[in-house]
Amino acid sequence: MPMNQEKAPETASVEIPIAVPSAPAPAAPQAAQTDRTKRFPRPPSRRPGLAPRRRVCRFCSEKIRDVDFKQVQILRNYLMESGKILPARVTGLCARHQRQLATAIKRARNVSLLPYVIR
Ligand SMILES: [Zn+2]
Repeated sequence: MPMNQEKAPETASVEIPIAVPSAPAPAAPQAAQTDRTKRFPRPPSRRPGLAPRRRVCRFCSEKIRDVDFKQVQILRNYLMESGKILPARVTGLCARHQRQLATAIKRARNVSLLPYVIR
């Protein structure tokens, strides 16, 4: 039965929905994975010629384990002019302390130690 063997429609019909519809060459998927660094090159340095600046979390470096909502003077540094919480890419905090900071600011707002909005 050569006809039935040549058809083999099951494997082809399974692969089509997974692959990108307009992909012309599904022959070399391994080569595409190794070329990831070429497809996603590192962004150009913002300080060309200088060593990359190391980001350190201020709470970690000062050995502050838990962010306290009562320490308003510290929390104020992480608010924008409008009263919003600064994003982690601005504060430079680690994920754990940024989360704690956000919770602490929200608690301080609730007991009116900090404002919700500054107009
Ligand atoms: Zn930290």
